[in-house]
Amino acid sequence: MSGSAGNESIEVVGAGPAGLAAAITLARAGRRVVVHEAAAEVGSRFQGDHQGLENWTTESDVLDDFREHGLTCDFARTPYRQGIAFDAWGKPYAIRSELPLFYMVERGPGPGTFDAALLAQARELGVEVRFNSRVRRVEGPAILAAGPRAADAIAVGYHFETDAPDGFWVICDDDLAPQGYAYLLVMNGRGTVKSCMFSGFKREAEYVARTVERFRRLVGLEMNNPRSHGGAGNFRIPASAYSGRHPVAGEQAGFQDTLWGFGIRIAVVSGILAARSLMNGGNYDARWREALDPMLQTAVVNRALYSNLGNRGYRQFLRRVSGNNDVRGFLRRNYHPSWVKRLLSPWARMRVQSRRRDLTCNHIDCACVWCRCGGSG
Ligand SMILES: Cc1cc2nc3c(=O)[nH]c(=O)nc-3n(C[C@H](O)[C@H](O)[C@H](O)COP(=O)(O)OP(=O)(O)OC[C@H]3O[C@@H](n4cnc5c(N)ncnc54)[C@H](O)[C@@H]3O)c2cc1C
Repeated sequence: MSGSAGNESIEVVGAGPAGLAAAITLARAGRRVVVHEAAAEVGSRFQGDHQGLENWTTESDVLDDFREHGLTCDFARTPYRQGIAFDAWGKPYAIRSELPLFYMVERGPGPGTFDAALLAQARELGVEVRFNSRVRRVEGPAILAAGPRAADAIAVGYHFETDAPDGFWVICDDDLAPQGYAYLLVMNGRGTVKSCMFSGFKREAEYVARTVERFRRLVGLEMNNPRSHGGAGNFRIPASAYSGRHPVAGEQAGFQDTLWGFGIRIAVVSGILAARSLMNGGNYDARWREALDPMLQTAVVNRALYSNLGNRGYRQFLRRVSGNNDVRGFLRRNYHPSWVKRLLSPWARMRVQSRRRDLTCNHIDCACVWCRCGGSG
């Protein structure tokens, strides 16, 4: 793929982390950028959701990495070094890390959110952001970053106000979150409680009710002004992350942490790589494969293993986690390829299949990037 000419305006579809990181990268290099956002504001699918910006997949700190790539990181965040996980029998396990395991951030349009900070930086650099602009077709140079296309996992629960102190709590129990985990996050008087499930979506209301009840019993959860919230995640390692000649970034490409659904960091990195490939003429597929593929592949193996654990298996896993004084290092090792995980990779890819289908494809002489006929399984 060749780069776009220096004076051409570049369109970015989607003002999520992937699209805005791409826009910032392009604008810092002096390129004219127009971002199209279908919604009326940034982060509209999150509306105050608390999320963890993971800090365990690299030795370096995620904020340092972002700054090195030119992001100003002017968003409110709290570093979390410790928390508590519970097994299905209510036994607590301490989670400890010397360095921040993740930074809790807020998503949505409000002040201090991750999304508002990226938007502000993009605008300061001269990026034009058009809201209520749903793109159906692009002609010129463009990056596609329109978010998830299907639901491979869902996280459903509530946002609320609370007097509880900052912290995070997790429960691994298939009766609350099948093949996933239930979580409670509190930052600055506001909280998020969710069941993050990888199957059983049709019974989501039941799982959410059980999750809330369990957190009430285990940690005394009290929610003031609870508002329901939920969303989907899409996981997939594409054969190619081009749609036609347009690089596709973030969750639209399927880039996600297949194990637990930590997608912000991957979205940002893929957006930056997509922008660089447009500017410098390099091949985007080669770039994301080098930077992301080892971790993405390992996460698929981790997911296949985790899905098979069941409540007793989660309990063993939590014992191993809490026996570790540096959970950050433990997770980093587990997200990195090893010969065992490489060996398990073909089996894992068979087990972990994305639900994504391209319904517009008739599968005759198909060369779609996204549907199964594209050969990317
Ligand atoms: C409930 C929930 C909790 C999560 N928790 C975490 C967490 O704790 N940590 C973590 O790292 N990740 C988490 N994730 C995942 C993370 O939010 C996503 O991976 C990340 O937002 C993906 O960024 P993106 O830019 O690819 O897509 P998005 O953030 O979805 O942004 C895409 C944007 O494109 C816009 N758009 C869509 N179609 C069009 C169109 N045709 N034209 C123009 N604009 C369009 C959308 O309106 C949207 O604003 C969570 C996800 C959910 C649903």
